[in-house]
Amino acid sequence: MAESMVSSFWGPVTSTTELCEDNYAQSTYIAEFYNTISNIPCILLALIGLINALRQRFEKRFSILHISNMILAIGNIVFHATLQHVVQQSDETPMIWEMLLYLYVLYSPDWHYRSTMPTFLFLYAAGFAITHSLLRIDVLFKVQYILLCLLCVPRMYKYYIHTKDAGAKRIAKLYVATIILGGLCWLVDRVFCKKFSGWYVNPQGHAWWHVLMGFNSYFANAFLMFCRAQQLGWNPRVAHLFGLFPYVKIEKPKTQ
Ligand SMILES: [Zn+2]
Repeated sequence: MAESMVSSFWGPVTSTTELCEDNYAQSTYIAEFYNTISNIPCILLALIGLINALRQRFEKRFSILHISNMILAIGNIVFHATLQHVVQQSDETPMIWEMLLYLYVLYSPDWHYRSTMPTFLFLYAAGFAITHSLLRIDVLFKVQYILLCLLCVPRMYKYYIHTKDAGAKRIAKLYVATIILGGLCWLVDRVFCKKFSGWYVNPQGHAWWHVLMGFNSYFANAFLMFCRAQQLGWNPRVAHLFGLFPYVKIEKPKTQ
């Protein structure tokens, strides 16, 4: 894209990924306006999740998951606002860390050697951060991210088929729906970028992908909170904020 070379407030674009949105079209300070502000819903949703996790004293892992969603969204804001390569990398590394955290939450109930896997995951996370900052191989990041996502799928599916609760199943379905819809927005934005650029209004597929992924992360965390509460015998049920927005409510036994 010719305009990607335009030097503006943050300097020339150095990121290896360039999106369909025109650079510095709405503001001199924000490279991609819609791709930047579309991360705000993710932060708000993660905040709702975090407050819920803290208020009901869920395990710390869930607070960390919600906080890491917020950090990722903030990193994404900085990336899309500046389109700098340094920021792109500091955004990609926490993405891998978060997937490792998901693996921990999903698989840790079955581990016999309690310290081996966390140690391995920690070393993996540190190793990735170092190699990614030194080697900067974009493909390596993408392949690893997709593989880590795929590793989560079978366990998520196992939780899904073992859950009888209709509300929790609905959250799982919303999770799948948002990832499919979000993925479609992302793909359409990439494939038809040239066409959209000629339109009077660009539909901003990448911004919609951000919004949907914000909901997707929230649903993923909520579903995991439900399953974990069930494992711990905390009688979880799905309640609704303003009669609409689902969250997990628990009742811990009196002895705990
Ligand atoms: Zn993005």
